[in-house]
Amino acid sequence: MPVSDYLVTIGLEVHCQIKTATKMFCSCKAGFGYEPNTNVCPTCLGMPGALPVLNKFAIERTVLTGLMLGCSMPPVSKWDRKNYFYADMPKNYQTSQLDLPLCIGGEVPLYSWAFPADSKVSAEGAVVRTVKLDHIHLEEDAAKLTHYGSYSLVDYNRGGTPLMEIVSAPDLTSPDETYAYLKSLQQILICGGISDADMEKGQMRCDVNVSLRPKGQKELGAKIEMKNINSMSAARRALIYEIRRQADELDRGIVQVQSTRRWDDDLGESIVMRTKENAHDYRYHTCPDLIPVHTAEYVEKMQQELPELPDARQRRLMEQYGLPVADANTLVADAQLCAYFETAAAATKAPRKVANWLINIFPSVLAEKECEIETCPVQPATLAGLVDVVEEGICSVSQAREVLEVLWNNPEQTAAAAAASLGYKKADSGALEALVEKVIAENPDKVALVKGGNMKLINALTGQVMKNSNPKPNPKLVTEILMAKLELS
Ligand code: ZN
Ligand code: MN
Repeated sequence: MPVSDYLVTIGLEVHCQIKTATKMFCSCKAGFGYEPNTNVCPTCLGMPGALPVLNKFAIERTVLTGLMLGCSMPPVSKWDRKNYFYADMPKNYQTSQLDLPLCIGGEVPLYSWAFPADSKVSAEGAVVRTVKLDHIHLEEDAAKLTHYGSYSLVDYNRGGTPLMEIVSAPDLTSPDETYAYLKSLQQILICGGISDADMEKGQMRCDVNVSLRPKGQKELGAKIEMKNINSMSAARRALIYEIRRQADELDRGIVQVQSTRRWDDDLGESIVMRTKENAHDYRYHTCPDLIPVHTAEYVEKMQQELPELPDARQRRLMEQYGLPVADANTLVADAQLCAYFETAAAATKAPRKVANWLINIFPSVLAEKECEIETCPVQPATLAGLVDVVEEGICSVSQAREVLEVLWNNPEQTAAAAAASLGYKKADSGALEALVEKVIAENPDKVALVKGGNMKLINALTGQVMKNSNPKPNPKLVTEILMAKLELS
């Protein structure tokens, strides 16, 4: 049977590191870049008798995430121990939440701009569909293990970092939707200041499970899980492969069993790791050291802090700045770029031109300079100034790219000063008009041809004016004056 004869059911578990100063159950510093095993204490090292203390900020952020995604909060949420023995967890259990998590239900909107570039989704409606969530719970991250040939090293700095787990219902139906789910969720988490959600840095990681069943069959097929997939495109590739593999086996009558597989992105295949593993294997039990969380006070506080979500932001960008839908999509899909845009747009009368610079010119410049928008030396106000310089007719867009180069190396300069340093100044219109008249008088044959309809020669006349001008005027302006003098406009 072709793959299209099967119903595909996908569910996702997304682990997300919450941006906090300290760990989940102790006051050790969270975050990375520190010497290994320097941010540790008896609690996060699991010493006997050391007691945990709750990080309220991490609870607030989880509740805020739940509010952004339309979850409900049970009045009381509690902590459970998930028992397992491994070097990344010195207590031999992970403090997590099993049956009374902080957030229940809710849904993730799939934004049109979040789908892969080659999938056919109309950009008109911002939200294509919503995907149901099962719950969101809070737990602690494990330590980081690095494996070498015959030995492994462990860094407990990461151990005990607040980790939010967002568990979807089995409500996704394709690899493209899965990609869009991850991208939409990531931008929502960034909007809320919950996490930087950078998958390359491991701040957001995902486990994907997928099952197939023939059309018409009610019960779901056996669930196959792939753990720790570290990019959106890898999740998409892994699912395309796994759906094909399961369909082939089902076609040949091979019964699928619930199992965990490892996705090897370099090989482009999944390899079976272990079969059947259930919650009861972990002997979950209520943590005796932590009192349950009464959620009402957190909900009340976080309702005051609800941020603007990406779909509302997209609509506002179009209304407030007159941006076309494609530009609004591009900006909303990148929260850092969007923040840069809004700061710059506030400082100019031509916000659409600012969007144009950021979307069409900046990407290649940033790539060439190996720079990110967050670390770009040219500040938003300076870019706004550069847009104004072009708007005022001081220089053309291509000349402004030279000015940008100067600003990149002298970021404290204003755009007007940088433009002046290259000889671009507001033309003295009297002097410029005199120069245009002089060029017209000196080139009667070209002028005759232009008047006869050869519009290409107007560029030659413009070039003549440019050559004789100092400072350099905006060529567009010169052409305009020429056209007016020749009564062509
Ligand atoms: Zn600690
Ligand atoms: Mn987990």
